[in-house]
Amino acid sequence: MNIASPDFLAKVQDKRADDRAEDAWIPSSCALCYGSCSILAHRVNGVVVKIEGNPDSSIGKGRLCGKGVSGLMCHYDPNRLRVPLRRTNPKKGIDEDPGWKEITWEEALEEIATVLKRVRAEDPRKLLIQRTTTVTASRIPFQTFGAAFGTPNISTSGGGLHCGNGAHLISGIMHASWSIVPDFQYCNYAMYFGASKGHGAGHASNSNMALAADARARGMKVVVVDPFCNFAAAKATEWVPLKVGTDAALALAMCQVMVNELRIYDAPYLQAKTNAPYLIGPEGRYVLEPGSPRPLVWDGEKREARPFSDVPAANMALEGEFEANGVKCRPAFALLREHLKKFTPEWAQSVCTVPAANIRRLAKEFATEARIGSTIVVEGVTLPYRPVAAVAFRGNQGHINSVYNFFAVDLLNQLVGAADVVGACLGFAPASLGHPETQRPRYFPKAGPDGLMTVGTWMGYHYPYPPERPRMPQKMGLQDLFSIGMTSPFLDATDREAMWEKFDLPYRPEVLINFGANLLLSIANRRPVEASLAKYKFMVSFDLYLTETSNFADIVLPDCSYLQSWDSRSMMPFILAHPAGMGDWSWPIRQPVLPPEGEQRRFNEVLLDLADRIGMRADVNAAMNASLNLQAPYRLEGDRRYSYQEICDIDLKCHFGEAHGLAWFKKHGVMTWKKKPEEVYWRPFLDVRVPIYWEFLLGIGEEVAAIAEPRGLPIRREFYQPLPDFIPCRSHCCTAPGFDLYAFYYRDTVHTNSYTLENPWLDEAAKLDPFSYTVAIHAQAGRKKDLADGDLVWIETESGKKVKGRVRLTEAIHPEGLAIAACAGHWGDGMPVAKGKGVGFNALLDLDWEHVSPVNLNLDLCVRVKVTKAEAVS
Ligand code: SF4
Repeated sequence: MNIASPDFLAKVQDKRADDRAEDAWIPSSCALCYGSCSILAHRVNGVVVKIEGNPDSSIGKGRLCGKGVSGLMCHYDPNRLRVPLRRTNPKKGIDEDPGWKEITWEEALEEIATVLKRVRAEDPRKLLIQRTTTVTASRIPFQTFGAAFGTPNISTSGGGLHCGNGAHLISGIMHASWSIVPDFQYCNYAMYFGASKGHGAGHASNSNMALAADARARGMKVVVVDPFCNFAAAKATEWVPLKVGTDAALALAMCQVMVNELRIYDAPYLQAKTNAPYLIGPEGRYVLEPGSPRPLVWDGEKREARPFSDVPAANMALEGEFEANGVKCRPAFALLREHLKKFTPEWAQSVCTVPAANIRRLAKEFATEARIGSTIVVEGVTLPYRPVAAVAFRGNQGHINSVYNFFAVDLLNQLVGAADVVGACLGFAPASLGHPETQRPRYFPKAGPDGLMTVGTWMGYHYPYPPERPRMPQKMGLQDLFSIGMTSPFLDATDREAMWEKFDLPYRPEVLINFGANLLLSIANRRPVEASLAKYKFMVSFDLYLTETSNFADIVLPDCSYLQSWDSRSMMPFILAHPAGMGDWSWPIRQPVLPPEGEQRRFNEVLLDLADRIGMRADVNAAMNASLNLQAPYRLEGDRRYSYQEICDIDLKCHFGEAHGLAWFKKHGVMTWKKKPEEVYWRPFLDVRVPIYWEFLLGIGEEVAAIAEPRGLPIRREFYQPLPDFIPCRSHCCTAPGFDLYAFYYRDTVHTNSYTLENPWLDEAAKLDPFSYTVAIHAQAGRKKDLADGDLVWIETESGKKVKGRVRLTEAIHPEGLAIAACAGHWGDGMPVAKGKGVGFNALLDLDWEHVSPVNLNLDLCVRVKVTKAEAVS
């Protein structure tokens, strides 16, 4: 057709009219963090010009955080990958140029499939799958791929190792949940141990933000215990600065004041909902009904020891010494009470620096405000009312004392019955009766034979109680030996080979498939991670950009962003991003707002293609059925090929009925229905107990030691005791002269992991924040070192690790603290906006057995440092 012809001009005009007509708001889900807030993307003439919150969803309720609105800058970044790349330089290292050359998808997939086929035939455990919680947010595709392949080595990189091993474990055991948060609608006194729930970073932060603000306006007192007065503490009624890593000392001293000085605790709750009345024998173990797993309690009315389930809760003794099964025994609560006596406020002051008088006052306020015994009517239902909550998250449990730090905080809630009732500390939606039409998804906690709460596999994760028995490891991370550790340092640790040899690991990792994780930034000092990455014989990385870590890959595949992707479950899992308390359930989807550019492909479709090439489609279908809990007639069949869109459609129909498949969700974006009081405040409705005495930890410790110690790995048994204690971090034991500050990092509200540092809007916002890219030191401590704002300093550890940064002096930090924001310190050219920004705290971290919790493998995230002006160091 002649371009000057009337036909052509008419077509151009029609096209322009069509383009002008395109002005659409498309519902989907954010993925700038794992909050997965519901969004509306405004697309005009094929270009996304704005992202707003979707008011139809409870996930964000029409609001987004600064990261969410900036998402289009991540999508449109000119540095995005658009073609598959293959390295030509076989040498791998931080300073090696991979010598990238463009290849076709066919070449890439054939090479990957050939390697995977060989490894699967030899030993599928040689494959490690690593992912991040953002960038490639959905876990279902690679989890099912890994399960079908036959590898147990599926992991989350640094984010997981740093944040969840203690928080998720204890939230799971005590609240059947992934995390805990105050019931903002009714809570009157919230005590945060470093957590920023509803105040910035962390789970469901945006969803809870408005609730937290409304609660403060209503008069909820917020006490924030934190070495740094930033996102949560700056908005708090009271900031309680404490020495880094000493949360357990403060929380245990508060428990001591409540139980032994004030004698305020919720006895009926402890009798009915915990193992406080279970009789404990001389070895610290339960006294059981002979031949049965049922623990005995002392029946005060019948004056004899009887199985817990045969005795009315009100008759169960919490105090006293008895004889049962021929041994002397005491209720667990009596042992707790005795145990707490050593944690006096005066002792705690010497550890955490919070004055004893303040500790007593805080304990009294918390215990009094709990209003033990009171009730309230919510939607016509009379429920226990305990309007106090003590919550914690990453910072509190990011230490060698990970388990006890978090356990001690939750003990405050348990002692006053402030657990999953109105106004109290709530787990994230552990009970769901499902959509009114289909009753799906449906799950709730149940009692095991010992009466303690258990839910088996919980939304795709193994639930932490009862824990799996320790055994000789088959996983690279040794989590089958350290069976309550979720993520592990031993994928990259300097002593990983020594540990594998010690435990006769019958294979070595050979292939790494990485989904968007930037391991070199996110775990610890980059040298051990460099060494472990360089050892893989073959590495594939699905990425949006060329990161420092993708430079170790043999093949890099250009992934689609969240604005180009499908997902029937944008939250991972369903419960994760819901705001606390009453309101609505929402099930949003993620759908493409824009098509792939260049050669970009969606990673979930690529995995299905690879499954076909390897010949494991039937295994993937079976894994999908299990992981998505698909029921007939919606189960995936045999080795039939489904596109990922078809699988999403099936998943949605299975949960919401034939009329509510992908076509319905594409239009509406989210399914919403009302929460019920018995879902939100489930604890009084279900006959389950939680352990204030972790008897099982003794057994685990014995079993771990029985395997590890004959192989030359001593196990510190003080970490495996049933009652929480204060155990100092290595940083507390450093006495080297000049190492006088405790360095730690915190999540910055404008950044997620290391990824968003590449976003120019967020970079601009971070530059406006005095602390995002600097090193915060107390003004007095800084002046003693002759430091002023803007000075360039070296921060150095006793083991010689160091990093450079610019000082920002402030009164809003503990005098012995040194705070660094975010997961910064990029040096690669693939993310030029991020390059050189901020301070890379992780460079200071050692990564070995000596620096992890010997019970849950959490990495110790504080380190004692010396600070010197940069010019003074050669
Ligand atoms: S909280 Fe997370 S998911 Fe929600 S808008 Fe912000 S970045 Fe997006």
